[in-house]
Amino acid sequence: MRVILVGPPGAGKGTQAERLVAKYDIPHISTGDIFRANVGKGTELGQKAKSYMDAGELVPDEVVVEMVADRLTHDDVANGCLLDGFPRTVPQAQALEELLTASKQPINVVLKLSVDEDELVERLLSRGRADDKEDVIRHRLEVYRQQTEPLEYFYWQRGLLRDVDAMGDMDEITERMLAVLEEVKAG
Ligand code: AMP
Repeated sequence: MRVILVGPPGAGKGTQAERLVAKYDIPHISTGDIFRANVGKGTELGQKAKSYMDAGELVPDEVVVEMVADRLTHDDVANGCLLDGFPRTVPQAQALEELLTASKQPINVVLKLSVDEDELVERLLSRGRADDKEDVIRHRLEVYRQQTEPLEYFYWQRGLLRDVDAMGDMDEITERMLAVLEEVKAG
């Protein structure tokens, strides 16, 4: 099972991703987590990413794609994976499609988490992460609308996009996502 999670910052991707990978026993690949770990360790990759992250901007496509391409060569992705926070732009999605076509491991489904904007800002402010200051949050939402939303059409065209209502109770949202995944799995 190869799954992509898309949705604006604050939609709950990270929390839901943890639950889904536990259920399906597949690796959780979060580009945000990989970047944060690299910033924490002060690696060269972390240094490249930090200024973009602090400003709520996207890290340049070539940096992200190279990192994910490397991650996808690890043995643990043979039976599937859950991509969280990647792709975030159409060029990233195209690069991913090429990588997965070459390795004959196509994406099975793209789950889009839908939440209204007031609830997003509220969730992000209560999270209190370094990049969760209100002006940065607003900017990240704007970047999402401009650069990431076009992915919905990209995946809709391929028949892979499934919309999930991500408002309200976390457990119920997980149930909705699992229902879609079970349907996809059953073919
Ligand atoms: P996230 O935890 O997914 O919200 O990611 C935190 C930050 O890492 C984002 O605001 C971006 O600066 C950077 N980032 C994570 N994933 C990507 C990606 N696929 N493309 C570009 N930048 C990314």
